[in-house]
Amino acid sequence: MSELQGKRVFVTGSGAGIGKAIATLFTERGARVVVSDRDKDAAEQAAAEIGAAGIANCDVTSEPEVQTAIAEAVRILGGLDVLVNNAGIEISSPLLQQSTESFDLIHQVNVRGPFVAMKAAAEHLVASKGNVVNMASVAGLGGSPLLGSYCASKAALIQLTRVAAIEMRDAGVRVNAVCPGFADTDMVSRLVPDFEAATQVPFGDLVAAKQGRLGTPEDIAQVVAFLASDSASWVTGSSYVLDGGLTAS
Ligand code: NAD
Repeated sequence: MSELQGKRVFVTGSGAGIGKAIATLFTERGARVVVSDRDKDAAEQAAAEIGAAGIANCDVTSEPEVQTAIAEAVRILGGLDVLVNNAGIEISSPLLQQSTESFDLIHQVNVRGPFVAMKAAAEHLVASKGNVVNMASVAGLGGSPLLGSYCASKAALIQLTRVAAIEMRDAGVRVNAVCPGFADTDMVSRLVPDFEAATQVPFGDLVAAKQGRLGTPEDIAQVVAFLASDSASWVTGSSYVLDGGLTAS
């Protein structure tokens, strides 16, 4: 029997891309997943395709929406074992020319979103001795030109993950992050419209970035599934790098 069988799971930003792949893999492995996205149509389509347990939409920049969505997920599922804070945005700009408003926005989605979701989910995760997986990035580990505010937001998320893991340890709740390299989603298409054909990328070393192939959303979902499972019962406060070797050299 799958280790995810029967797990009650809430995934933000699961209408598309990596979040949808996570919701799909967890469901295939017997978990009961509530899909959530700020894009209601995408969430509905994904939930129908996947056979999700339900939908509880929120824009993670709104704390009341996040609180309501998590309460709704708990109602649908009868509790919560796994929170996946996947929703995130990219903004590409030379750092010192970026507007302060867009700097604030990326932090509202990528850092404040996971923060308010962890707060809203905490009592339910304590009750189930559950866990959190936060979607960081290799951009949180090293700097990339034109992705300054994105890098800062993902580094902040890694630190939130560490502190939450320490503070929740005695309650039996694990908190981990994953740090993917480039994966084949709409986000990367927006940054580099034809990644496979590109001869250079503006924010780093293309040869290193390509590493033979782009990651797939499923590559990332596999690692999230491991971290959420009881096989990872001694793994907390970690930031798992999965990047085809991008940051190895
Ligand atoms: P994507 O843009 O393809 O999909 C993101 C999904 O999140 C969309 O369905 C979107 O509607 C939703 N979303 C965006 N803002 C939201 C908000 N405020 N509230 C709720 N939902 C929101 O992106 P993706 O590539 O699947 O990225 C998912 C996560 O993975 C992000 O946190 C991203 O930073 C991270 N990541 C992506 C890559 C990559 O190469 N694609 C690499 C490292 C990390």
